[in-house]
Amino acid sequence: RAFVSNIEAANPTLNAYVEVTADKAMTMARASDARIASGDAGALEGAPLGIKDLFCTEGVQTTAGSNMLRGFVPPYESTVTANLWRDGAVMLGKLNMDEFAMGSSNETSAFGPVVNPWKSKASNADLTPGGSSGGSASAVAAELCLAATASDTGGSIRQPAAFTGTVGIKPTYGRASRFGMVAFASSLDQAGPITKTVEDAALMLRSMCSFDVKDSTSLDVPTPDWTQSVGQSVRGLRIGVPREYVVDGMPAEIQALWDQGVQWLKDAGCEIVDISLPHTKYALPTYYIVAPAEASSNLARYDGMRFGHRAETASSLTDLYETSRAEGFGAEVKRRLVIGAYVLSAGFYDAYYVRALKVRRRIAEDFDKVWGQVDAILTPSTPSAAFAVGDKQIDPVTMYLNDVFTVTANLAGLPGISVPAGLDSNGLPLGLQVIGKALDEATVFRVGAALE
Ligand code: GLN
Repeated sequence: RAFVSNIEAANPTLNAYVEVTADKAMTMARASDARIASGDAGALEGAPLGIKDLFCTEGVQTTAGSNMLRGFVPPYESTVTANLWRDGAVMLGKLNMDEFAMGSSNETSAFGPVVNPWKSKASNADLTPGGSSGGSASAVAAELCLAATASDTGGSIRQPAAFTGTVGIKPTYGRASRFGMVAFASSLDQAGPITKTVEDAALMLRSMCSFDVKDSTSLDVPTPDWTQSVGQSVRGLRIGVPREYVVDGMPAEIQALWDQGVQWLKDAGCEIVDISLPHTKYALPTYYIVAPAEASSNLARYDGMRFGHRAETASSLTDLYETSRAEGFGAEVKRRLVIGAYVLSAGFYDAYYVRALKVRRRIAEDFDKVWGQVDAILTPSTPSAAFAVGDKQIDPVTMYLNDVFTVTANLAGLPGISVPAGLDSNGLPLGLQVIGKALDEATVFRVGAALE
């Protein structure tokens, strides 16, 4: 009830929820009460969660922030959310997001921008909570839910977490099932939680992850109890600081935060190692070829025939496809589809798509090479603090630069966490990122908790 009334009070300003399922929440909470009373409580019993609106929820509209899916009510549940309900969690509603998870500011949503509950001391302007999981981050930061599901294709869990002073982790690719998660770029998409604390993230991620035969890239590995890693000493761990992440134009405050993080870990007994990830500079262009390419294939299913928006007036089948897509998709999605179709087209496939796949391999190898020397890598989560709504919309490339520190983990399939690490001079939260070896979320949580 407390969360529902928080939502009623703050959602008109923050626009974090696209749908509130208050009745469903009450029914689920009563069932939780009964299980607690009978000594049958699950790991997340009674925890009120917000769900990013790209997880299919049976009987509850799932839009992925797009007019294309407005009114789409899935007949089935995503594996991630089914796992959460199995463990007793309660659904408060569905959270706003960038359209099809394409964006870094939640401004591409068909439901309008999400507003960050934080304000800069320097101005009263509304700030973005980041994206694409902006609804999730804003809702957690403003206490409109205890924790939220999110997804990360190029930083969409970690960047909004950094912008809102919350914790967000993207697990190793394959840990969380993509079944029932609206697809953006299938080789990069991973689900994860946004929470208030590292311990909550460890608890919730454990519930979300499972081997799933319904996802061909799901990993058949046990899911450890990561809460055990939270609070464990980091003494003796070797932490890599990649020199290529010192990017042009990085604000002094971001560098200072990073230095501070290094100092904290040194003080806690870590050994700091200067490392090189030489292909880092190609990560953004590689991501912005691979992700749109996969998106153009994935989003081909929205044809106005099977599900989603269907144009009312069409003179032929081709016209129906074209008009439905022209009406249903927003500008950023169309931009990605054009880029994706272009890089996959007969004349350019080798020059762009195949080349990008080769560079992606190099980026992953850069990480493979340093794992002999270090146990985890420390970087800033983002190159800036939260920016104002409307600020970066004029130029998509400026927006893409936001992902400079986060896309590498997706391209290499590695786990990465963003942990709130302090405030900038305007009083806005900044995050530090810890990247770990594949399947070594334990070390990521351990180092993340030491920075908290
Ligand atoms: N900002 C990136 C993009 O727009 C990443 C989005 C995401 O991780 N879903 O593609």
